[in-house]
Amino acid sequence: MHEYDLLVVGSANADLVVHVDQRPAAGETVLGSDLAIHPGGKGANQAAAAARLGARTTLLARVGNDAYGRMLSQAQRAAGADTTGLLEGEDAPTGVALITVDAAGDNSIVVSSGANARLTPEDVTEARRLFEAATVVSLQLEIPRETVEAAAHTAAASGARVVLNPSPPAPLPGSVLAVCDPLVVNEHEARRLLEDPADGRVDGRVDDRATGRPEEWAEALLERGPRSVVVTLGAEGALVATPGSAAVRVPSPSVTAVDTTGAGDAFTGALGWRLGRGDGLVDAVRYAVRVGSFAVTRAGAQESYPGAEEFEKFSG
Ligand code: ADP
Repeated sequence: MHEYDLLVVGSANADLVVHVDQRPAAGETVLGSDLAIHPGGKGANQAAAAARLGARTTLLARVGNDAYGRMLSQAQRAAGADTTGLLEGEDAPTGVALITVDAAGDNSIVVSSGANARLTPEDVTEARRLFEAATVVSLQLEIPRETVEAAAHTAAASGARVVLNPSPPAPLPGSVLAVCDPLVVNEHEARRLLEDPADGRVDGRVDDRATGRPEEWAEALLERGPRSVVVTLGAEGALVATPGSAAVRVPSPSVTAVDTTGAGDAFTGALGWRLGRGDGLVDAVRYAVRVGSFAVTRAGAQESYPGAEEFEKFSG
């Protein structure tokens, strides 16, 4: 048995959130609420979600030698994740997301990648032991592209299963898509990937299935080479597609949504864990949908993620 169910390779950010009545226009200054600081970043969120549920989880990420870096490390430990792969550097500050949320709930976000942009393919090579010790490796795109590619190939060479969420959406080389099992996208990411011809398989034309039903997006995405595709559909749950079989819809339990921040990361972290435990893809998605739904019932990202016991109660 592997030492870790899940290795997440990705970003760790401090989310700095201020609520305002109206977001400022160019040149305008507005007064807002007290500053709230939360641990965030897709990589750190996924690792925290899995670890809180009981997964043996580790995170390969970079933070700066500063207070936010220490907060992120502390949040991982509190969630129960291993932090041997959380690297601290002197050359850049911890990544930060500056978030303003207005009275209508709409937000504006500026991300300063900081140390996340310094996670290199060499870091992946040096962390090879973590890849060999993990059943599943989960990737997103908030770190340099060449690092994502190195991580995907290292994971595949180590025999680990690769889960990849292309967020923020960007074209991926065929060699990376080929090892994704699954490629996990929300509706926005699915459309964006299909509108982008850059992987060379759609003749420079936008795939017209981008405007169709989620089943059609999944079929079109499968043609680009991943071994499976999962489309998350917000309150509708998710859809699972594998080559040669009809797509399967997994409905979400009906909940009162309070805050959807980080729901997709909770979903993907939970999915990676269940696959790492040996669940089939549809069963793992059933579990992940319930975790995502739990996460929207509470405010925040990592703060909204359930521990094993409360999740069991929620699931009945
Ligand atoms: P993202 O957070 O990346 O935009 P989604 O909105 O598709 O992704 O949400 C991911 C998962 O979170 C869904 O598959 C579902 O399990 C859960 N979820 C999100 N919004 C809701 C909602 N309004 N009600 C119930 N579950 C939700």
